Amino acid sequence: MTPADERFEILMRLVGLIERDLESLALAESVDNGKTVAIAKRLDIPRAASNFRFYATAAMHTFDESHETTGQAINYTLRHPLGVVGCISPWNLPLYLFTWKIAPAIAAGCTVVAKPSEVTPMTAYLFSKLCIEAGLPAGVLNIVHGTGPKVGSAIVSHKDVKAISFTGGTKTGESIARVAAPMFKKLSLELGGKNPNIIFADCNYDEMLAETRRAAFANQGEICLCGSRIFVERPIYEQFKRDFVEQVSTLKVGDPLEADTDVGAIVSKQHFDKIMSYIELARAEGGTILTGGEQVHLDGRCSDGWFVEPTIIEGLSYDCRTNQEEIFGPVATIMPFDTEDEVLAYANSVRYGLSSTIWTENLSRAHRMAAKIETGIVWINCWLLRDLRTPFGGMKNSGVGREGGFEALKFFTEEKNVCVKL
Ligand code: NDP
Repeated sequence: MTPADERFEILMRLVGLIERDLESLALAESVDNGKTVAIAKRLDIPRAASNFRFYATAAMHTFDESHETTGQAINYTLRHPLGVVGCISPWNLPLYLFTWKIAPAIAAGCTVVAKPSEVTPMTAYLFSKLCIEAGLPAGVLNIVHGTGPKVGSAIVSHKDVKAISFTGGTKTGESIARVAAPMFKKLSLELGGKNPNIIFADCNYDEMLAETRRAAFANQGEICLCGSRIFVERPIYEQFKRDFVEQVSTLKVGDPLEADTDVGAIVSKQHFDKIMSYIELARAEGGTILTGGEQVHLDGRCSDGWFVEPTIIEGLSYDCRTNQEEIFGPVATIMPFDTEDEVLAYANSVRYGLSSTIWTENLSRAHRMAAKIETGIVWINCWLLRDLRTPFGGMKNSGVGREGGFEALKFFTEEKNVCVKL
């Protein structure tokens, strides 16, 4: 196995190369996915570099535990890389999530078979060239292209692949678990979300308003962490509704390559149809569209693209399908509430449990709510503020296991306890 300091050197070279190619990678991501080039430049590509920086340095700081059984024995833990592991990632944050898996796997000393989504394969291809330039030894990282049912399932069912790190839809996660669990593979599943954003009347209103808009509509709402169910304490409900609708209706849907575009294209016709079908469902369930709700047609370069107006819906019950199922698009619902217990019941009513946001200046309430809410990630007075050392992942049908920090390095290793009698 390549020693840790050499792994560190190679992974740090990759950081430099990703940063060198920031512009071209961001452009490729935008063209491939439909996201704005601005968000690709600000979020996706810098985060891919951070993933490698974080795990390159982490590889230099691993340690093994030792446990003394007083007077009788000393135990020490050996932690060895698993061998060949599989990494499968989705189309919404292509290079960002692809590298979030690959970086810890290589840092831990594994070799990797990795598959990006066939919907957005471009940056994974460009990245493979950077790996060669960085001097990553041949065979350490094997990027394979092809669809999930064909290439993805071949990785999952291969007997020599010891672990699967997967990010994607809950249904796909289920089918992967069905194949991998009886083979006793290690599994890390990061799945869907239907995240609550809970706003109390005592919040810092202006900050909340700006972040709530970002949380609902960033990346066209195609982020698993987006806050798509917005619960507002009744005393400020009408004011919030007025201000939120006004702010959201100023968002510019446009060519993803133009600097002033806020909302780019939906990734595919298939996904566009899914989003529009949920807007129809919301109408059928008795919802009122406060803004948006329609397709946007653009001229010129984007005339064949699939664009959706940022959409806010009110008047739906917390337990209708629109409020229970993941839409994964620029669609948010708003609902009033009166008490903490009531909003907790609404928030926890879904089968998902990925992330939540709580807006309040009342510290005791913030801690109370954080302890009771059923999500793996709780943001208080912020959204998507990430520290890569923290455990990342969901409860319930949002997944199994945690990524981030040393958790991910441990995932890609096998532990062995050695007991030496004194
Ligand atoms: P999918 O589950 O459809 O696909 C994810 C990946 O799995 C793709 O690479 C896909 O390949 C592959 N795949 C599909 N079927 C199989 C299979 N049978 N065996 C192995 N691999 C397979 O998800 P989407 O790409 O549609 O991504 C959106 C979903 O991802 C949303 O539900 C979102 O919430 C979730 N997500 C979760 C995150 C989290 O951290 N919890 C973060 C980001 C997204 P291909 O596309 O080439 O067919």
